[in-house]
Amino acid sequence: MTDTNVIRELLGDLDFDPDALHEKYLHERDKRLREDGNEQYVEVTRDFSRYIDDPYVDPGFTRPAVQRSHEVVIIGGGFGGLLMGARLREAGFDDICLIEKAGDVGGTWYWNRYPGAACDVESYVYLPLLEELGYMPKHKYSFAPEIFEHSKAIARHYDLYRDALFQTVISRMTWDEAAGEWEIETNRDDRIRARYVAMANGPLDRPKLPGIPGINEFEGYTFHTSRWDYEYTGGDAYGNLDNLGDKVVGIIGTGATAVQCIPHLGASAKHLFVFQRTPSSVDVRNNRQTDPEWFASLEPGWQRRRCENFNILVSGGDQDEDLVADGWTDIFRNLTGIAAKGASRKLGRRLTPAERAELMVLSDYRKMETVRRRVEETVKDQATAEKLKPWYRQFCKRPCFHDEYLPTFNRPNVTLVDTDGQGVQQLTRNGVVVDGVEYPVDCLVFATGFEVGTTYTRRAGYDIVGRGGVSLTEKWAPGMRTLHGLQTNGFPNCFFLGFTQTATTVSVPMALNEQAEHVTYMITESKRRGSGVVEATAEGEDGWVEEMRRAAKLGVRFYAECTPGYYNNEGKLGNPHGFFANTYGEGPIRMYEMLRGWRETGDLEGCDVR
Ligand code: NDP
Repeated sequence: MTDTNVIRELLGDLDFDPDALHEKYLHERDKRLREDGNEQYVEVTRDFSRYIDDPYVDPGFTRPAVQRSHEVVIIGGGFGGLLMGARLREAGFDDICLIEKAGDVGGTWYWNRYPGAACDVESYVYLPLLEELGYMPKHKYSFAPEIFEHSKAIARHYDLYRDALFQTVISRMTWDEAAGEWEIETNRDDRIRARYVAMANGPLDRPKLPGIPGINEFEGYTFHTSRWDYEYTGGDAYGNLDNLGDKVVGIIGTGATAVQCIPHLGASAKHLFVFQRTPSSVDVRNNRQTDPEWFASLEPGWQRRRCENFNILVSGGDQDEDLVADGWTDIFRNLTGIAAKGASRKLGRRLTPAERAELMVLSDYRKMETVRRRVEETVKDQATAEKLKPWYRQFCKRPCFHDEYLPTFNRPNVTLVDTDGQGVQQLTRNGVVVDGVEYPVDCLVFATGFEVGTTYTRRAGYDIVGRGGVSLTEKWAPGMRTLHGLQTNGFPNCFFLGFTQTATTVSVPMALNEQAEHVTYMITESKRRGSGVVEATAEGEDGWVEEMRRAAKLGVRFYAECTPGYYNNEGKLGNPHGFFANTYGEGPIRMYEMLRGWRETGDLEGCDVR
């Protein structure tokens, strides 16, 4: 029997034709591939810079420039910066300055206040430091205002507001070799010196707009979802957008953000047009209130255990118990090594690589068939349902979970305008053109995502000048080079948190926490061992770059066959700055074990401590 037949027999009757599905997926991908790839998007500068103005602060804020010196400066007040601050405080660091361009901490939860915004990883795992703060999330999946409040509570608990500078944008950072310090310049003419700098800039930070012809001609009201204008729409993050009752609204984009806000737009607008290029995969959410009795019964240390349990399951590992038991763990149980282990048990032997690959493909088809069936069963008009079906493998795009998104298309005031993969054709003074038809709208919401695939420093918005005047832009132009994703040679005492040559996991705060703990160790050790300057050596960096290359087994073929999106650099693979280009292929479990082992040996291999 061939490898293929063994697996097909094991899975039993398939109610789909795998070859036909493969053809269909490739066809849907091909329709969407475009020559300009990532260049199709407009950078939000000059004419478009109003799209990144902060609508949540009073305009005209001023303050005198400051000249200060701090032991640690943390750039970014999202979960990365907050976790960094928390772990440093726990290790006894007192002199910390947090710098943040927004008016408060919270990062993505400061900016993303659109109606319906919520975390889509379980809150007991996703919200950091719950035990430290003694906080019980109200729901299994918390809504954005609660997460924003929790971010502020973390800052208060760890005294991170002290010395913090908000509405402050870094313009440049320069290493002073003689002093062994960084000098940080800002848009408010500050001069801040820091022994250590932790960069927690965030990966999906700069909104992007589609380069649609006529984008500047539309005369109605527009904004991006990450700068929601409640003055215009009325209501708040829970909906009730009362000012829209007499407005025709259009929304461009149907990604994870749109899936959450469309139900509210549909409930409030006189009419809503949803302009779709590619449908999201939308599975069951089943959100519910937290049971206080259950929460009180959790034993100390529960959050770390729950995070580890989740992380192992969503990394393809096995666990006796699935503590989170939701859509995420369900997907991973069915589509990863766990499924392969189950299949080997049934066969009484290990699967061959070909069998394993076949199992993954067929399980993926089967899973996506259930997602498509859910559309059919929920959306009454079958022509609309057909257009809402995603035709790609589950991880080609961010999986979504929502129980009100699909029913929204049953409302008489909601129209799906599917563009058959081509995107919106044009904007006019009055509205949106698709396939030669103009749809007049009063207001147009851009749910078109965030800049990815560009260089780290362009997204950060400032350059970092290391030893010998070499800038990070120059150094990383051909691609990132780091030790463990956290430091780069020539830039002492500078640490990168986030997605720089490291493993990530479905619950990003968990990755940030691991990084914050490691950076805290490095800073502590560099102080203990000498002058307090720690730097990745050239050899250490070479070693990690080589390890990244060796481990980079994550499916080039997989992403090549995906419909375009930011996961696969809009279908143009090979971009060294692409979203997954700097992900450690051995996964988070191996990465965190390696980092812990590295700390235990205590010899700071690959680092120079002076
Ligand atoms: P995405 O980049 O995922 O989605 C952008 C959307 O805009 C896509 O549907 C895209 O279509 C569409 N689009 C772009 N250009 C055009 C065009 N010319 N015409 C029509 N449509 C167009 O951004 P999101 O803000 O939705 O999500 C970004 C990420 O943020 C998510 O992947 C997720 O990681 C995170 N997120 C997490 C949430 C959570 O945890 N709860 C909630 C929201 C976001 P196409 O697919 O064809 O490119």
